[in-house]
Amino acid sequence: MLDLDKICCLNRECKLHKKIAKGNIKSYGSYTTSNGKHKRLLCKECKKTFSLTKGTAYYRLKKSKKTFDSVAKSSVEGIKNSVNARINAISPTTVWRWLILASKFSKSFSDKNLRDYTIREIQADELKTFVSGKDKESWIYTAMEVSTRLWPSFVLGTRTYRNTMELLSDFQTRGTLDGNQILITTDGFGFYKSVIPKVFSPLAIHAQVIKKIRKNRIVKVDERLIIGTEPQLKRALADSSDSEKINTSFIERLNLTLRQGVSYLQRKTSGYSRHSVCLEERIFLFQCFYNFIRPHRSLSCKDKVVTPAMAAGITSLPIDFRTIFSFFMPNLWAVTGSHSSTRGKIVIFENAQAKALEKQETLLRDYFEFGLAA
Ligand SMILES: [Zn+2]
Repeated sequence: MLDLDKICCLNRECKLHKKIAKGNIKSYGSYTTSNGKHKRLLCKECKKTFSLTKGTAYYRLKKSKKTFDSVAKSSVEGIKNSVNARINAISPTTVWRWLILASKFSKSFSDKNLRDYTIREIQADELKTFVSGKDKESWIYTAMEVSTRLWPSFVLGTRTYRNTMELLSDFQTRGTLDGNQILITTDGFGFYKSVIPKVFSPLAIHAQVIKKIRKNRIVKVDERLIIGTEPQLKRALADSSDSEKINTSFIERLNLTLRQGVSYLQRKTSGYSRHSVCLEERIFLFQCFYNFIRPHRSLSCKDKVVTPAMAAGITSLPIDFRTIFSFFMPNLWAVTGSHSSTRGKIVIFENAQAKALEKQETLLRDYFEFGLAA
């Protein structure tokens, strides 16, 4: 049953623009396109009508919602764009365009919902990748709340103090601290040492796991306590439901899952990303899938499927891509910002891609210009 209280008027000139539950929206018949029947709604305040899909990822979609969902699902299973296009019988440009849209919704959904989790234990790591050619190194910083396996934050960029700070302060501001000490485990990367006390002091206990690798083999593992005392560390480990000793295995497992789920990150393939924006978008899509949709094996048991978002008390059930893409987000353009920033970067794309991006931008502009009639 359609909940009209969750839908708002999209007409900018309307008094009730972007306001929900005001009783101004009513059903107004339906219209038919090549893709089937669509519901139409009316705002009683400004008397404008609009399509039910307006404000969702399915607005003005020429194929079925099922195909759109299927493209997103295939992508987060690590399937390359070209293969994705073949199995869903659509053009590679469409796949590429849809995935941009899908990731914008995922990003917005995550941004809105990945909040208010309790921070108990953190593991952070960096994953090496290549952007625009095998010679340009880039790093994906990831941080996980170990007790719930929730992955709220990541940063893509070079190995700098600023990026380290961005990762951990984002993690901290989204979550809540309950006053207990937090065990934070990282690798030996230098900037954590200076960032952690600034973000988590005085609650942080910081430990490092330093692995010496020779010829692709781990030859030595060093454990170091950087902040906190031995008794504090012992207590933190005793309190931890997951770690018996200092380790970074949970975040390493996440990084492996991430590599498998984002085709750009798979090793020994030609599928690196041409531009960091594309890679970042794909990670946003995967992050949403990982936190809200994918049952986590170590959290779930036989008859109960649990996602990290459920473990963190953010949602009570696993959700699906349909919910995320139908999630009406009046603030979407506020979150994604003006598209001019992306438009400025068109030049670096190859011609065909630039054209497709331009088309996409026009589509998005129409789409985000809520004043337009449906
Ligand atoms: Zn209105």
